[in-house]
Amino acid sequence: MADNVIVIGSGPAGLTAAIYLARAGLSPFVYEGFQSGGMPGGQLMTTGAVENFPGFPKGVDGQLLMSDMKEQAARFGARMSMEDVSGVDLSARPFKVTSMSGETKQCRSLIVATGATARRLPLESERRLWTKGISACAVCDGALPIFRNKPLAVIGGGDSAIEEAMHLTQFASKVYIIHRRDELRAGAIMRKRASEHPKIEILWNKVVEEFVGDSVLVSLRLKDTKSAQMSELKVSGAFEAIGHVPNTSFLAGQLQTSDTGYIVTKPGSTAASVDGVFAAGDVQDSKYRQAVTAAGSGCMAALDAERWLVRQGEQL
Ligand code: NDP
Repeated sequence: MADNVIVIGSGPAGLTAAIYLARAGLSPFVYEGFQSGGMPGGQLMTTGAVENFPGFPKGVDGQLLMSDMKEQAARFGARMSMEDVSGVDLSARPFKVTSMSGETKQCRSLIVATGATARRLPLESERRLWTKGISACAVCDGALPIFRNKPLAVIGGGDSAIEEAMHLTQFASKVYIIHRRDELRAGAIMRKRASEHPKIEILWNKVVEEFVGDSVLVSLRLKDTKSAQMSELKVSGAFEAIGHVPNTSFLAGQLQTSDTGYIVTKPGSTAASVDGVFAAGDVQDSKYRQAVTAAGSGCMAALDAERWLVRQGEQL
């Protein structure tokens, strides 16, 4: 028998959808994921303290927040499996969802909330010092005490890099933007803002060869891409802003995506291009990418799916 709704993903979007669906009596089934696209619970599982999620004046540990969301969904009857989805068949209803174990489940409606993976520099020193001065989200981590009044670096030359750098100027003594070319990818307005900001300095034609530090980041070893000359830059924090990859490969092109791979939803709704399929969180959002906006869109997807099922006259 087909489930009313399957949710793929267990970050703030997927679990908020599950809480709402479960409370509505729809008994959702959640594929939490296992490895593909990051760990179950999403990007907050690898963030330290979350200080901007409303309701936690003293901040909350990212892992704790996600385990509490999971417990909340389970309390209302959401069923969950810590498995990756390997493929879906959206060509006919009920939809089919196949997991890595080879099991196929059917569902009347589907919510895709698989998030996006922040691109990271493939360096051993980056892995070692991750969350110890290295982050992929200035909005999430920039205000932490370890970064206050210290020189910080943002790596990348796109709109995100400039936005992150601008955000960090509130806390940092100075913000370096480290870009591998001699021209920013960011749009004209952002380029102007960065070049005019007194706290921002752009280091052109530079790549990070190594993140230096024992227990915390203390400096970056930089290489000039033109002269191959090496230099050392003392910073207490480095924020990678080298793009995100939405986790959609299991969809095999069955939903419309933007030219950067994000699932396209109808404006003002979470409806994806296939009737009965909804998308929430970072997999459909290249702009805001916050835990609270992901949770908000997960709520929207649950309400959209519930109303869609009612409209279909589907047996709930
Ligand atoms: P982008 O893909 O636009 O930019 C990524 C940047 O990282 C590029 O400058 C790229 O360099 C650099 N980069 C990629 N890989 C590496 C690497 N291995 N080493 C060093 N540098 C690397 O990603 P963004 O996240 O900035 O933006 C994604 C989308 O979201 C864009 O369409 C953007 O316009 C949009 N956006 C809009 C905002 C707004 O309107 N306010 C805010 C944020 C994002 P190179 O340039 O050489 O390729």
